[in-house]
Amino acid sequence: MAEDAWSHETLYPYHRQSLRIDRLLYDSKTEHQRIQVFENARFGRVLTLDGVVQTTEGDEFIYHEMMAHVPILAHGAVRRVLIIGGGDGGMAREVLRHQSVEHVTMVEIDAGVVSFCREYLPTLSDGAFDDPRLRLVIADGAAYVAEAEESFDVILVDSTDPIGPGEVLFTDTFYGRARERLAEGGILVTQNGVPFLQPDELTGTLRAMSALFRAATCYLATVPTYAGGPMAFGWGTDGPGRQTDVETLRTRYSDAGLACRYYTPEVHLAAFALPGYVRQLFP
Ligand code: SAM
Repeated sequence: MAEDAWSHETLYPYHRQSLRIDRLLYDSKTEHQRIQVFENARFGRVLTLDGVVQTTEGDEFIYHEMMAHVPILAHGAVRRVLIIGGGDGGMAREVLRHQSVEHVTMVEIDAGVVSFCREYLPTLSDGAFDDPRLRLVIADGAAYVAEAEESFDVILVDSTDPIGPGEVLFTDTFYGRARERLAEGGILVTQNGVPFLQPDELTGTLRAMSALFRAATCYLATVPTYAGGPMAFGWGTDGPGRQTDVETLRTRYSDAGLACRYYTPEVHLAAFALPGYVRQLFP
């Protein structure tokens, strides 16, 4: 009996997580990163970039629902959204579920991620790439926000971790430029890893956001394949977003016709209740 094949994710020198490879579907290098897609009995199809789990069919709904619906339902009148990264299409799928959203620009650095996710992980984008409201731009997100002129009500930084091409998306310069692209009352949300294992990543983002926005905090959700406890979403805005009450969120959720598997208006508000060890990471 052949030895099981495993994908080992080593993001930290002292911690590793492994997923059994039941069937390897794709394994190739683009100019930016190594891309793998394989099947796993519990998580379905798994996407890794340079060996790090980006998303899986089994638990992607948690991450994509919480990054998309929390700012959109808190804001209440989102028309234009910018997604930085998000090559698998899951974030675009969730954002485009809001009929009130008129336009989504998605800036992804690696065309290779988009093209093979459409082929190997079609359930993630679920038709989003064919939605006429979506404009896909293949570029570095940091360069894009430095040159763009249009404004957005919500900006979602659905990036890899701050290694390789993703590193530039965790800099003060990037956050400052992203803020300039926000319309009045706009909200910036960032993928900030797992604070129990990547504390500095969250502290760095919150320090930058605190200097840029009246309200800078984070909210949490637990994604099983983002090992190490709940992951953090950085949150920056000058608008009233956080004050949205649960009744208003319930109305907006119902009006949007959403039926989420993780997001609920109650979970939305609870996600901002932070445990002590996360609060201690604030600058
Ligand atoms: N959900 C995943 C996570 O939380 O780790 C990330 C999803 S998505 C696969 C991350 C995307 O960010 C990748 O497609 C990667 O190519 C893209 N990316 C990395 N650096 C980028 C940059 N500087 N500009 C635009 N996209 C970038």
